[in-house]
Parts: sequence; C-alpha cells; structure tokens
Amino acid sequence: MKRALFRRGALLAQQVASESSPSAATSPALAPRIHRAMSSVSIPPPACLLRPLEAPYRYMFGPGPSNVPPRILAAGAKPIIGHMHAEMFEIMNDIKKGIQYAFQTENNMTIAMSGSGHTAMECAVFNTVEPGESVLVAINGIWGERVAEIAQRMGANVHTMVKAPGGYFTNQEIEQALAKHKPVLFFLTHGESSAGIAHPVDGIGDLCHQHDCLFLVDSVASLGGAPLYMDKQNIDILYTGSQKALNAPPGTAPISFSERACKKMFNRKTKPVSYLLDMTHLSNYWGCDGKPARIYHHTGPVSGFFALRESLAILAETGLENSWRHHKEVAEYLYKGLEDLGLKLFVPDKSLRLPSVTTIAIPSGYDWREIVAYVMKHHQMEITGGLGPSVGMVLRVGLMGYNCNKANADMALAALGDALQHCRKSAA
Ligand code: PMP
Repeated sequence: MKRALFRRGALLAQQVASESSPSAATSPALAPRIHRAMSSVSIPPPACLLRPLEAPYRYMFGPGPSNVPPRILAAGAKPIIGHMHAEMFEIMNDIKKGIQYAFQTENNMTIAMSGSGHTAMECAVFNTVEPGESVLVAINGIWGERVAEIAQRMGANVHTMVKAPGGYFTNQEIEQALAKHKPVLFFLTHGESSAGIAHPVDGIGDLCHQHDCLFLVDSVASLGGAPLYMDKQNIDILYTGSQKALNAPPGTAPISFSERACKKMFNRKTKPVSYLLDMTHLSNYWGCDGKPARIYHHTGPVSGFFALRESLAILAETGLENSWRHHKEVAEYLYKGLEDLGLKLFVPDKSLRLPSVTTIAIPSGYDWREIVAYVMKHHQMEITGGLGPSVGMVLRVGLMGYNCNKANADMALAALGDALQHCRKSAA
C-alpha cells in the first residue's frame, strides 16, 4: 500500500517534471527527490480518498442499524445551522416532545445524547451512581454485561443476576436481589436484542421504589416496536437509540430521567467521571435546567438531530399503538414463515418474543457464519448471528420501523430458504 502511494507520488513528480524538464522525466531516480522538493508534506494524499465514496444498498434486516427512509435521509441532508442558533433550540425542543411521546413520559429532563446507545448507557450510570455505591444488573444477554462493566469501570459496587440468553427474571427474583444488595440503581434490558426477548416490566419499578432504588431500562432495540410506558411503569431512566425502529442514522440516543433520578443525580457528593456526559451541562444545553441562558458545552450533531426530529415526527404521525401493533403482526407473519422453512424460534414463549428482532435457533448441522455470509453475498441482505453470550446460538432477523412489513419478511424468508438449500450441511 505504502509502495503504491509512493509510486503515485513519483508519477506525479514525473508528470510535473516532464512539463519543465524532459530529461528529469526520463530519470525515475530523480522523481522522488523532485516531488519532495516541491512539497512541504512527506505523507502524500491517500489514493483511496481520490476515489469516489461507495456505499452499496443493503437490506438491513439485522438487529440494526435499519434502512433509513428517504424522508429522514433528506432531513439529515438539510443545510447546517449552528448548534446554538435559536432555530436549533426550537428543533431540540421538538425532539424533546417527540421523545416524551415515544417514551410516554412527562419528564422535563428529556434529551437526546450526542452519540450512540452506549453514550446513553454511560450517561445513565455515570450521573446516577457514585463510586462505591451498589448497583444491581440483570444479565440475560450482552447488554447487561455491558452495563455491569460500565458501572465497574466507574467504581460502583456491582452485583449481577445472570440468566442464559433467552431467560428472564421474575419479579420475585428481582425483589430478593434488591433486598439483598440494596442497590441505588437496578438495570434491566427491555428489548434484549442479542437474545430476542422483550422482558416484562410491569411491577418492577414499584419494587425498585419500595427498595429506594432507581429503575434503569434499555429500550434501544424495542422502542416503537413493543409497548413501554415510562411513567406508568415507574421507570426512572429510559434510553434508546436512533438507528432501530426510529430509522434515523446511528449517532443520537434519546434519554429521559424521572424526578427521583434528577434528585439523586443533582445532589451528588462527587462529580460524574465524564465531562461530556455530565447531566448538569447537558440539561442546560437542552434547556431543561430552567436557566435563561444556554452555555456552550459541546457541538451537538446538528444533522443527526435533524434526522432524529424527522424520525420522531414519523412516529408521531403513525401513532405508537399502531407501530406496536404493526411490529407484532409482521413478527407473527415472520414466525409462521420461519416455521414453514423448518426453522425453530429461539424463544419458545411467544409472549416473551421481541417483535423487532427475531432470534432463530441455528439449524442443526449448519454453520451460522456460512448462512449469514451467503445471504449477504447473494441477497445483499444483512441478517446476523448472535452477540456476546448468544454467539453460536442464534440467527437474528430485525424488521424495524420502515423495514417492518410483510414484503420484507418474505424477502428475508426467501433469502434464508435459499441459504438453507445452498449452505453446506455438515455432519455435526
Ligand atoms: N442496547 C441494545 C438493546 C442494543 O440492541 C444496542 C445496539 N445493538 C445497544 C444497547 C447499543 O447501542 P449502540 O450500538 O447504538 O451504542
């Protein structure tokens, strides 16, 4: 690679030299010296950047990101304005209202993070927990593992409840763990995208409150795809991502904090470990702190916020309940088609399945990597294997928001059927 760049540099030098001195052009040994002499930079422009950008169209039928509809792409392509312009603050206010609707919350402390779902995850933990405090994390797939690690890194005293992917926790198990570990924060994944579970949430918020604990819920893979009611279900901190059922590009992450969560996070003894994710600053940036002036904190992703606003507008037009119903109908259509292909759903209990991301048990004798690669190569379609603890256990098909319709389910089924016929069936 380096040599190719060097040759290109030498060639350029030869071309330039040949215009002024034919003899230099015929002497390749001189060319690099001439090139160096003519330029103050020693690293030439990368050849790859002199070619046009290529991004193929892919059917994004994995666990996310999903395809972005033209309307949202167009919103993201609008001219840039300043992150502190009055019009931008107006757009951020609209986003806040859109998130309040999507989360079903009246929380004032509702914003979008500049960053992916992980940013919201870290923001939630960093702001509500102080070093040495007890945190309880439910792990039934990768997302609990991640939150446990995030909390460990900031010095929390982390306790975990662990189930294999596909498992879920009863309210009784959760209450016992709350009583035992006395956490200040309990984490649960609503839409466990690595396992394909939509975890029941009813009653858990009440238990947390009885034990003086904040209830933190991850809805990155489930928001808009499965019912969730932040206020009614007593969730203290809820976050999601832009790139799943909301169909915006990756890179922004809605999050909301209850009054109880605000009380805890704004009465800390220590400052949060992250300046960027400090809610004292972010609440001002989003106009949630009641102060008349907004002070520069960081430059938010202006285009990403345009796109997020449009995606929330589409959800508002569609209606949450319609969106939930639609995801369920298409998921059920997909389950039937998968079973007709002879495939087994990974989560046996239909009522626990996550409608936005369906997990399929890897058919016996097949290598999941071959299936995934075949579908990508021959159908330009992303479906994926497992993630974290579910690797080697599942295939995952995600039909979210804009992608969620029966025609796309048919396409995914046809691609999987084709892969089953063509991928080697080993003797395993
Ligand atoms: N939580 C869940 C349930 C997810 O599915 C994902 C993304 N796959 C994340 C968190 C992390 O989000 P991001 O990749 O946007 O950081």
